[in-house]
Amino acid sequence: MKQIVFISGKGGTGKSTLVSSLSILVRDKMLADCDVDAPNLHILLKGKVLTKNNYFGAKEAVIDAAVCVKCGLCREICRFDAVSEKLLIIPVKCEGCGACKLVCPQQAIRLEEVKTGETFVAGTPRGTFSHALLDIGAEGSGKLVTEVRKKLRDYKRKEKWVLIDGSPGIGCAVIASITGADAAVVVCEPTKSGKSDLERVLGVTRHFGIPAFVCINKYDLNPKITLEIEDLCRSKGFPVIGRIPFDPSIIKALQEFKTPVEAGNKAVTCEIEGIWTRLTGEIKKQEVPDR
Ligand code: SF4
Ligand code: SF4
Repeated sequence: MKQIVFISGKGGTGKSTLVSSLSILVRDKMLADCDVDAPNLHILLKGKVLTKNNYFGAKEAVIDAAVCVKCGLCREICRFDAVSEKLLIIPVKCEGCGACKLVCPQQAIRLEEVKTGETFVAGTPRGTFSHALLDIGAEGSGKLVTEVRKKLRDYKRKEKWVLIDGSPGIGCAVIASITGADAAVVVCEPTKSGKSDLERVLGVTRHFGIPAFVCINKYDLNPKITLEIEDLCRSKGFPVIGRIPFDPSIIKALQEFKTPVEAGNKAVTCEIEGIWTRLTGEIKKQEVPDR
């Protein structure tokens, strides 16, 4: 089974549109939405929830009032002003760092896990699908991304592929998205910032030894920068496997919760099919031949 992760330098480059389109075109696969801060694949991949679990992604200090002698050391040490004048923890300010627990002479403080979201595995017509939804105000993390990927393993049958909608950027959630993947597809747009974001993301994939391929979305909106991106990829040894044209009908389709494939956009569908063919061809080239 090969894991392909789709990432980008920032959100909104068309990464999820590409993954959701491939979810229709590619057979024999599982799916994961690891863009945990802005998940949206679950809106398109309607399915039946198979498992749902609470996710505890934070810790919070709790003071045992029966043991506390009101020395105030916890309030002094807390860098987040999370201990009130009355020596009570202010939950919204507590970062769960544990400094107060370390200095408390009475061992009156414990750290409790806090629920920050839920993880789901769903059976959908396009394959088994894992994703997470964060509680309001909660932040995503690499740990949650790892959890989303891990949950799929229990449902693995003989699928050939896992398509992962990864986190954007270059932070720990992205690193958790690409770790152990067989290939990364970096989706970018032809703008100056898009080009520099791409360079940074490609640096991350290279650092972690993940073979990366580039897809330029709306390539025809700025042919000059598209050429610059292609030159950059060539010079750094990253194959450009896709050039998706801009088409206003894609925006209309997405507003109706449809992929370009479902909306019958032939040019875009054809290019996305080409992306998959080129990607699988590149992956095949990297496989060590049987002896
Ligand atoms: S450090 Fe411990 S004993 Fe002192 S005020 Fe805080 S909880 Fe109470
Ligand atoms: S766990 Fe850290 S942030 Fe929370 S109250 Fe203690 S010192 Fe402050």
